[in-house]
Parts: sequence; structure tokens; C-alpha cells
Amino acid sequence: NSLENSSYDGPLGDLVHRLTQSFTTEHSRPPQWIVAAPGRVNLIGEHIDYNDGYVLPMAIERYVAIAAAPRAEKGSRVASIRSVNLNECDQIDLDELPKPSLPPKWTGYMGGVFAGFQSRMGAEKFSQLPAMDVMFESNVPIGGGLSSSAALEVATATLLEVVSGITLGLEEKALLCQQAEHDFAGVPCGIMDQFSSVFGQQNAFMLLDCRSQQIRHVPFSSDHVSVLITNSNVKHELSGGEYAQRRAQCDSALKKIGAASWRDVTSGDLESNKSSLSEIEYSRARHVVSEIERTQKAAVAIESGQWETLGELMYASHHSLQHDYEVSCCELDLLVEIARGVGRAGGVYGSRMTGGGFGGCTVTLIESDKVVEVSEHIQKQYKKQCGIDAQLFASLPAKGAHTVSC
Ligand code: ADP
Ligand code: MG
Repeated sequence: NSLENSSYDGPLGDLVHRLTQSFTTEHSRPPQWIVAAPGRVNLIGEHIDYNDGYVLPMAIERYVAIAAAPRAEKGSRVASIRSVNLNECDQIDLDELPKPSLPPKWTGYMGGVFAGFQSRMGAEKFSQLPAMDVMFESNVPIGGGLSSSAALEVATATLLEVVSGITLGLEEKALLCQQAEHDFAGVPCGIMDQFSSVFGQQNAFMLLDCRSQQIRHVPFSSDHVSVLITNSNVKHELSGGEYAQRRAQCDSALKKIGAASWRDVTSGDLESNKSSLSEIEYSRARHVVSEIERTQKAAVAIESGQWETLGELMYASHHSLQHDYEVSCCELDLLVEIARGVGRAGGVYGSRMTGGGFGGCTVTLIESDKVVEVSEHIQKQYKKQCGIDAQLFASLPAKGAHTVSC
């Protein structure tokens, strides 16, 4: 049950403790509700969530935590909200929810979830929600490709669940948040980010079939291997709507191949249709077909503890994203090369860019007792070669969104 209480222990503890103190200081009373929702990292299966493929993410021990308390104020039905990270205040009027506006503001991500909840609950019940003071803080890097946006949406939905007493189905909740991102942030994302933040389990990756929306939890014990996340701290703003372009190129290639879904396309089909595709369409298609295969193999490798195999699949995925899908950048390539240079002898199994690309993070599979040493090496080399400080942290698979006892 996503609304089970969680203890203060673990990496969420500090965040919740700080937030509770800030809330209490600012509002002269403690919060009545606290909820948290994690960001995510995708181990493999990139740019195929919108191509009917599989993805293999885990929720990470980085969260958006929200604290709130009702306000006894006659006539007002406003949620006044503070983002601690941005040190900004804004409000959402429950009687007049915000309309989508671009570029999206953080209030929009939350407002989109409020709107989804309103249609789910019905206007009548929604109108009984109280005026609230709300404050939130996050330790998911914002805009770093670890899905701070989905964490914010899912945390907001979890808050509305506890406040209203209406518990959504887990899938329903994830889809409601995805819809908010589509409508209010203008990002036509797949289902991975919100599903990860809702369905995360400790000690398991999630093999998510983006066609059937079924999840299979793949147990992962980190006694021997760890997942290291490296934030390149760059984000290249590309003018040409790269994401929409990739989607269009894939759709057009699929049509020419004559298949209904990428899941029905084998590498043999791809080769026999090569002449009907443009060079770019062929490259994009080759990424999609090969990445779907790699992701299925990766789940098997995790289940049988074949870390070398998993590592090789990760390198192959990066190569495909770099050359066939062309969504990497020199900083991500450099981070992967530095990790690869450490090699098996130094404890590294594999590494790749993760997330949408053009900046953001890499994910590296590494022997657990080498995490500190290798992190320092990557940090140092990256700084030396491109002058930028990377942030590195290891994370276990984390539990999905939940309430935290006050
Ligand atoms: P990512 O999801 O990869 O972190 P996005 O660009 O999708 O990057 O989402 C980032 C946006 O989400 C921010 O620009 C902001 O609007 C919103 N957001 C996420 N976390 C916070 C936060 N802690 N405070 C305010 N806004 C946040
Ligand atoms: Mg996002």
C-alpha cells in the first residue's frame, strides 16, 4: 500500500527532518501531513518507452518531500505553497485551478495533478478540500534527468490522497501524473518516470513493459554491486525539438516497415526493409530494435547475477544512443569513457548515459567496495578534462511514494 507510513530512518530522514523544522518555524505549527516521492534512474532501455519497448528503472533514494497543514480561514480555499529549493512562494486556488501555461512553472506541475484529482474526485468532493499551507523540498537534482518533475507530481498526488482520504490505484495515480506532465508541462513523456516514482520497491529494479504497462520487479541485491549515478551538470538546450523529432523519425520508420509496433520488428525485418528507410530512419530504428533486445537481456542478467553481461549491455546501449540515436553529448561520452578506462580490474562493469540525453546523468554499475575510489577518480578526471564538477552518488533501489509519519 503506497500510503503506508514510513519511518524516519534512511536517506529520507534528513530531508523530512529539515522540512518539518522549516514548516514549523514558518507556520508556527507542525505539519499535519508529510509525503515523499522518489526520483528515478534508468539502468537500460533508453528512448524506447514511447516506442512500445521495455525500460528497466529503479526509484532512487532522492525524494521530493511535501509537508502540509490545513488552514482554518473562512472563505478561502487556497493552497499557498513554498518551494524550499527555489525559495519561491506561489499559490493554487482550489476554486480556480491554474490553466496550463508554457514554459511550465513548478506550480503548473502541481496544478496539473490538482486538476487530474478534481476530475477523478468530481467537483463536489473536490470542493471540500481545505485551504492549506504547503511546503516542499527536494534532493533530486532539478532538471538533471533523474525526474524531479515526476517526483513532484507523484508527491503532489500522494498529498491529495491523504488530504482527501481517497486512495487511487497505483496505476491510476501514475497515469494521472503522466497526464499532468503532458497537459501542464507540455512534455509528451512516456510512462517510465511516474511509474517508477509510484511503483518503486527496495531491492528491486522494475522491468516495465511500456506496451502493456505491466511491471515485473526484478530483485537486485547490492551486496556485491552498486549503482552509481553521476550528474554531468550540463544540460544542452537544443533549439530543434529533438525529442519530437526522434519520435517522428521512429513513427515514420515503423510505418515504412509496415509493423504496428516496434515489438513486432526483429533485426531481420529491419535489414530487409533497409532500402525503404532513409539513413537517419534506419539508424533510429536500429537503436530501438537493439535496445528493446538489450533491455530484456539485462533483466535476465540481473536475475542470474551476470554483472559482466549487464555491464556490456550498458556500454552497448551507450554506443547506440551516441551513434544511432544521437542523443548523447561530449560530456556524457567523456564520463562513460572515464568509467570504461577504470575497467573491470578497477571494479567497473559498465556505464551509460541515462535519461533523455544532451546532458544530465550517467549510470554506472560498479563493485560495491570500489564506489568511493572510483567516484573520486571520475570526479577528478572529469574536472581535469572539461573543467566541470560532477556530482556522484550511489543509490539503492528505493521505495515508491508514501506518507511519512509526522
Ligand atoms: P527533471 O525531471 O529531469 O529533473 P524537468 O525539466 O522535467 O527535469 O523538470 C524540472 C522542473 O520540475 C523544474 O523546472 C521545476 O519546474 C519542477 N521542479 C522539480 N523539482 C522542484 C523543486 N524542488 N522546486 C521547484 N520546482 C521543482
Ligand atoms: Mg522530468
